[in-house]
Amino acid sequence: MTVEEHAPLAPRTTLGVGGSARYLIRASTIGMIEEAICFARERMLPMTVLGAGSNVLISDEGIDGVVVQNTCKEMVWHETPRGARVTADAGVSWDVLVDAAAERDLYGIEYLAGIPGTVGGAVVQNIGAYGSVLADTFVEAEVIDSATDERTVVTCADAAFGYRTSYFKRARTAVILRVTLELSSSDTPRELYSDLAHAREAGVPLERVRERVEAVRAIRTRKFPHAATEGCAGSFFKNPVIDAARAQELERTYPGLPRYDQPDGRVKIALGWLLDHGLGLRGFTRGAVRLYEQQALVIVAAAGATARDIDAFAREIEERVQRATGIAIEREVETLGIIA
Ligand code: NAP
Repeated sequence: MTVEEHAPLAPRTTLGVGGSARYLIRASTIGMIEEAICFARERMLPMTVLGAGSNVLISDEGIDGVVVQNTCKEMVWHETPRGARVTADAGVSWDVLVDAAAERDLYGIEYLAGIPGTVGGAVVQNIGAYGSVLADTFVEAEVIDSATDERTVVTCADAAFGYRTSYFKRARTAVILRVTLELSSSDTPRELYSDLAHAREAGVPLERVRERVEAVRAIRTRKFPHAATEGCAGSFFKNPVIDAARAQELERTYPGLPRYDQPDGRVKIALGWLLDHGLGLRGFTRGAVRLYEQQALVIVAAAGATARDIDAFAREIEERVQRATGIAIEREVETLGIIA
């Protein structure tokens, strides 16, 4: 186990902002994760697990504690009568797992292609795209509790998955070690999101797993900023899910507002559309921070931006939406450390 003191965290995040970790430990085995837990406990410091840093806003003051970056990379595949199960270390890059499934012609996570992050982060966040969510394939996760050292297996029923959330998001001491997903050798037909439907109309093949993976990656490359050129953390906000009556009122105020009925009778509205067309905030900019021109749910941070700038910008967006619609929008991106 190597311990780095006062390690800069900004380069370890896709937003590219934030201060240092008091201690940074990169753990390439589960034994090292256990050592890191002891290290933090001996010093009575809080422990934070960082995946690929693709969904976090780290404060400019950094994290006064132990930050553990899980770099365990093993994947074990088992054939099943209907496809395969894969058990992947939490540190495996999510898109590497998507590719490995595509190589085996296994359906289940192909529409989640191109999402930056690790397998562990994907579970915490219950990542979703184009109508698929991680929870669709989740079987269980092996977890260690950093407060008690207890090793447990969290099943799908206990994982309490919701819209971009899970039990793991709230259970601050649960460190995910490995994740098992169930993938299928046959497809489950579903309604295509409009970008994919347009691609199919344009002749893009979407039958095979590999074809879907490539189509989704091509759409994402066109539509979302590339973290290598500008800081971003994917969708910064969640799409609000609201009462049907409230949604109807909003549609009267903002004709054309995309709405998607939910199984529980509520309605999900497309916040990106609302910010862009409803509130006229396309490309809205404050200093080095702006809403991405192609998708207003994404906040882009140019060189020179700080965590405080991004947080203040996000608060301004939240306040504008609240004033215009009465909706308290929620952030998808998690803040680590304290932004005063
Ligand atoms: P989009 O296609 O422009 O659609 C805007 C929003 O409307 C989406 O956020 C989506 O909600 C919802 N939507 C569209 N078609 C729908 C349908 N047929 N049924 C139900 N809901 C529908 O969205 P986009 O910004 O280009 O993103 C495409 C997909 O990638 C979305 O699913 C988005 O969530 C996902 N994405 C995920 C991440 C991430 O996990 N970090 C980052 C960026 C984009 P949902 O968000 O609930 O799908």
